[in-house]
Amino acid sequence: MKMPAWNDLTANRQPAFELDRAFYDAIRAAHPRARLAEKFVVEPYSGRGFLVKQGQTFRVIEETGQQIGAVAMWNAHERREDLNTGRTTGPDSYYITMGTRLWSDVPWFRPMATCVDDTVAPPADAEFHHHTCVGGHCTPETMQMRFGVTGLNACRLNLLQAVTPFGLNETDLRDSISVHQKMWLDPESGSVSLAKSEAKRGDYVEFYAEMDLLVAVSVCPLGDGTVDPTAPGPDAVRPLGIEIRDTGIAPKPFPRWTDWRPTWKGRWVPPN
Ligand SMILES: [Zn+2]
Repeated sequence: MKMPAWNDLTANRQPAFELDRAFYDAIRAAHPRARLAEKFVVEPYSGRGFLVKQGQTFRVIEETGQQIGAVAMWNAHERREDLNTGRTTGPDSYYITMGTRLWSDVPWFRPMATCVDDTVAPPADAEFHHHTCVGGHCTPETMQMRFGVTGLNACRLNLLQAVTPFGLNETDLRDSISVHQKMWLDPESGSVSLAKSEAKRGDYVEFYAEMDLLVAVSVCPLGDGTVDPTAPGPDAVRPLGIEIRDTGIAPKPFPRWTDWRPTWKGRWVPPN
């Protein structure tokens, strides 16, 4: 028997857990009437943390084009519930575009935000994608691995500096997604290749908040994804814009999972 894909909507699944496309189409259609609640720019080599209420959307916008970013998020009232990209790739995908849900881990395991718009044109080389759940954010450690230089700025530093004012610390920052970053996942080896971002000035990706969120965005020091951070050159790293809007549309409640823990017979005992 061939197992159905997680996201095969023809499989025998509970409809309550499936994406209601009409609901998110309505949110996108409501955009011209949505009130702009907040707008700001995240400058090169920096990060910014901000709150997004449930029912609001936030856009990550190319101010001048070809700039990649890292986005992390938490339940604004419960920092232990955060974005989990591994969980996201199961019911949804490695790739993020309209209709992709971003999930938290168990015991919550529910959509935190849903992509409702994506203007970045699909690359001509169709195996590439621009917004992904793959690879995490760059860190000083990965910079040292790739470029042999210690102490480089990295998305991790930007994200940490963004969330410190909200009381979060290093152990709270785990996963993130990459936006506007052109990437290819080799189907044979599973390895990741980066290419120069094709996101143009004014392009954006937009997410609808399924709950009150703390969001952090980093402007990646890798610029368009191919910049050498040891010698970036002028204007190699560019700003990203953020816009938060009130849609006036409340999220649909996600079904609660049945709690299996009362049936848990005990703890695992290691063998002698
Ligand atoms: Zn980065």
